Amino acid sequence: MSLNTTPRASSARPTEVDVVVLGAGFAGLTAARELSQRGLSVRVLEARDRIGGRTWYADGLGRGLELGGTWVHWTQPYVWAELARYGIGTVPSPAPAVAHWWEAGAARSGDPEELLARLDEPNRRLTADARRVFPTPFRPLEERALVESVDHETIADRIATLDLPAADRELLETFWTLNVNGSIDEAAYTQALRWVALTNGDWAVNFEACASYKVEGGTGRLAQAIADDSDADLRFGAVVEAIEHDDDSVRVTTADGRVHTARHAVVTFPLAALSRIRVTPPLPLAMDAAANEGQAGLGTKVWFRLEGVTEPFVAFGEKDWPLNFFQGEYPDGDGIIVIGFGPDARAIDPTDVRAIEEVIGRLIPGARVTAVEAHDWVADEFAGETWPMHRPGYLTGALAGFHAGDGRLRFAGADYAHGWGGFIDGAIEGGLIEARRILTENAGAQTAVPLLAATA
Ligand SMILES: Cc1cc2nc3c(=O)[nH]c(=O)nc-3n(C[C@H](O)[C@H](O)[C@H](O)COP(=O)(O)OP(=O)(O)OC[C@H]3O[C@@H](n4cnc5c(N)ncnc54)[C@H](O)[C@@H]3O)c2cc1C
Repeated sequence: MSLNTTPRASSARPTEVDVVVLGAGFAGLTAARELSQRGLSVRVLEARDRIGGRTWYADGLGRGLELGGTWVHWTQPYVWAELARYGIGTVPSPAPAVAHWWEAGAARSGDPEELLARLDEPNRRLTADARRVFPTPFRPLEERALVESVDHETIADRIATLDLPAADRELLETFWTLNVNGSIDEAAYTQALRWVALTNGDWAVNFEACASYKVEGGTGRLAQAIADDSDADLRFGAVVEAIEHDDDSVRVTTADGRVHTARHAVVTFPLAALSRIRVTPPLPLAMDAAANEGQAGLGTKVWFRLEGVTEPFVAFGEKDWPLNFFQGEYPDGDGIIVIGFGPDARAIDPTDVRAIEEVIGRLIPGARVTAVEAHDWVADEFAGETWPMHRPGYLTGALAGFHAGDGRLRFAGADYAHGWGGFIDGAIEGGLIEARRILTENAGAQTAVPLLAATA
């Protein structure tokens, strides 16, 4: 079916463009491509001097490194379709040869399969309700009453009810601290259920989805392919400060004092960045409160070169360590380039070689760190968070409002996803859905948007 998207005659006051897209991450790039390919005039306002947002494939440690979003998977339909569309493949992360973990106050080493097996039963119990609460995970509020019945709980609350032996509980806590990239005391239990529901209730497939297959040539390649396929007017260094909207149009003011007018806006800012924008009239209360509260993903991701270790490995520390998960990713001469994750960006300076060496040394004694590379996403004013992990109440309190939009404002992005909230996939999904809604509205169609319909 083709949509007639010829701009309809309108008595509305004239605007500079049909749509202004705020942000050039995966959500914004996707929306801009869809809208501009169908003949609408689109301007993208991006504060940075690059596309990709919270994905950033950059040079570091003598090679290309993903400083932000990295792994993709075939259970993620939107990103998988984009890879197919542009003929871009994936490359696997290396299978770990050995696992290191912390147990009863001491470092242990063993078979990675043994460690996975230790996580199996506790994770099954923790996420047993995933498909019951989220039977159709791309429509997260379909069983609203069920979701509401657990949306006040944190992941830590629910783990505490499992009555696990201390060693199993601690390992499970570290695992979910890794997934949250923040404190499990602040992350919604529904987020754990939702993630696992997206992989048909199988936590191990979900873990595979989160850390196994990278975009060949880097995420920047995919972002660039989408941007190259778009006729949108992309403006870098355009820092949005204020948005005014009414029944007719949207006025966006950037830091240089320029006002951009459009009939619609697609807002793709992370919650923390959204909270910095003056919106008039203000967003509905629940959305405004969610933006001010932000996400629980406030952690860190660091790359470093470890000397004296050459085999790929996986390592788990304690949940409160400044870095508590490590994955040896690229063998590099007499060393290996490692990714580390920690739950609190303020707890460690990601440029401090000795601090990183001290933490990894708890699990691999004598390990020597020779160089580091990282970006502090939490301190970055255009992100303010890493991957979006919702707080209790967000799903049932604010998400439906973001899906509905506010007048001429539409919200797309990983923070507002229907399915893979927190992932590149969710960002692309939002860009597609919101572009289609605007196209449908623009064509004067009265019918509901098929297939990709909003869920709330
Ligand atoms: C360290 C890290 C690891 C991750 N790992 C993975 C992973 O392995 N797999 C995965 O799928 N996902 C991962 N993610 C998440 C994924 O990268 C994001 O969810 C996704 O890229 C978000 O896309 P988006 O378009 O919704 O938002 P963003 O990419 O944040 O795009 C929003 C854009 O808006 C711009 N902006 C913000 N404020 C303003 C302003 N005032 N004016 C103008 N522009 C502004 C920003 O600069 C940005 O370009 C990770 C994220 C991080 C940070």
